[in-house]
Amino acid sequence: MIWSPPAAPFDATVRDKVERVRTRLAEAAQHPRAALATSLQPEDQVLTHLIAQDRLPIALFALETGRLHAETLEVIAATEARYGLAIERIRPDPAAVAAYVARDGENGFYESLESRRSCCDVRKVEPLRRALAGRGAWITGQRREQAQGRGGLAVVEHDAAHGLAKFNPLADWTLADVWAAVRAFDAPINALALRGYPSIGCEPCTRAIRAHEDIRAGRWWWESSESKECGLHVAPSGATA
Ligand code: SF4
Repeated sequence: MIWSPPAAPFDATVRDKVERVRTRLAEAAQHPRAALATSLQPEDQVLTHLIAQDRLPIALFALETGRLHAETLEVIAATEARYGLAIERIRPDPAAVAAYVARDGENGFYESLESRRSCCDVRKVEPLRRALAGRGAWITGQRREQAQGRGGLAVVEHDAAHGLAKFNPLADWTLADVWAAVRAFDAPINALALRGYPSIGCEPCTRAIRAHEDIRAGRWWWESSESKECGLHVAPSGATA
């Protein structure tokens, strides 16, 4: 049986959490050129909905790696249409992609961890660095329960690697909270999320999972769980909440 999203009610507990997230987003919005890095997953859709509803001066961008699923590209467009806002597509440097492909091949990331990290560097990490340049804060949809390495995730931290504040407004949310909110908001959902994909990255590096598997089991499934990060989220130098 494939995984399916939790069906939890949008109850008072979740509504309280939503109000706290509104406050956290308003705080993030006070930083110059604050932006949400959206991967269009349900977590990001909760944040996008609240940013749009509260008309917060927070920009949105998505890392268009060149290897995303068609369903992800569709939900970017659907989200722009639903909320009347623009999501900037940040693309990798074509010369860097060409150099990677010439060295390792189009799908060299299956062959070694080093190659996989090189591909993520070219298609995600460097574009993110570019997208964050000159900003005072960025916002992510990360949650503590998503992965072992995120258990100590703070709501606000200093991102020393990029030199700005980093907000994780959903740090204390459960997956059930996310789905309760996204359904209550009637936000656009990536069709893959309803077909066994609780976590969605690039097409060749993401698969559907079974009901009993860890929710990140479908990401880089050929690697050990310790290596399953793409380099976008490095350890903070200091947490403030
Ligand atoms: S997730 Fe896969 S395809 Fe996407 S950048 Fe990383 S290695 Fe490359």
